[in-house]
Amino acid sequence: MPHKLKVELLSKKASNLKVAPHPVNNTASGTVMNDKEDQELISKWPKLKDKIPDIFLHNPENFLDHLDRLISLDIKILEPCLCRYYTKIKCPTLSDYKGVIKVFNDLKLPYNTFGQANKRKMKVVIRGLPKQVDLNKLKIEFNILSIPIVRIHKMQVNEYKQENKSLILAVVPYNDNGKKLLRVNKIFGHPITMEPPKPKTKQCHRCQLWGHTQRYCHGKIKCVKCAGDHMSKKCERDPTKLPPKCANCGGKHTANYRKCPCCPDSEEHKLTQIIKKQNLCTATKCE
Ligand SMILES: [Zn+2]
Ligand SMILES: [Zn+2]
Ligand SMILES: [Zn+2]
Repeated sequence: MPHKLKVELLSKKASNLKVAPHPVNNTASGTVMNDKEDQELISKWPKLKDKIPDIFLHNPENFLDHLDRLISLDIKILEPCLCRYYTKIKCPTLSDYKGVIKVFNDLKLPYNTFGQANKRKMKVVIRGLPKQVDLNKLKIEFNILSIPIVRIHKMQVNEYKQENKSLILAVVPYNDNGKKLLRVNKIFGHPITMEPPKPKTKQCHRCQLWGHTQRYCHGKIKCVKCAGDHMSKKCERDPTKLPPKCANCGGKHTANYRKCPCCPDSEEHKLTQIIKKQNLCTATKCE
């Protein structure tokens, strides 16, 4: 067959595949997918924001002290925003973002950032499968439906212990292929539902600030127990002699205490946020 014809045939096949009748119904195993994305279901997951992550310079560093350096290197930034614990910096392009990161690294400034949106993952809790479900078989099943699974495991949840059901956490890339998982409504004959995991306020194990994780953190190392400049694992504080000290507020509790006024879950923090909002302070956007 002439090459050109072959290519034409192949592309015809490909376009036929696109309009193949849905739902994908694997009758042999009893796994069923909806033909369309359920926008209401998808909207339960946080939307991906900008492609370029924000950078958060940790206080008490003053961002303006470093502005001249950025300008001299022709690095552009947008709307730096001063918050309680950070200065939030937005960059118009990825090269500006890399430029700021390089300057901050060279100056050894404490900051954190986040992974790029195209590398983000989507966590999906699957409800309705029996306890004894075989995760390997599940992985193969998703593979057949060309749903890319990054990670999958059973969750430990008390409420499900009595019923013979399990909760499965599946992690997929946050893109069109990954979102295909949300179209599945039956697996191995069991009707299932999906939901995002309950959000938990993040705390950084490196600098102890709330709102990010240590993965992209270049903040100052602080101990969760004594606020010293060492990793928490290496703490030598004698708890019988010295009370703990919070790295965020200086109080006599460990920095992961959820009633600390610095923790976004605490009543005191919520109250200050309300007051801030009433004062029309834009800083609340960043915390
Ligand atoms: Zn940190
Ligand atoms: Zn310590
Ligand atoms: Zn505290």
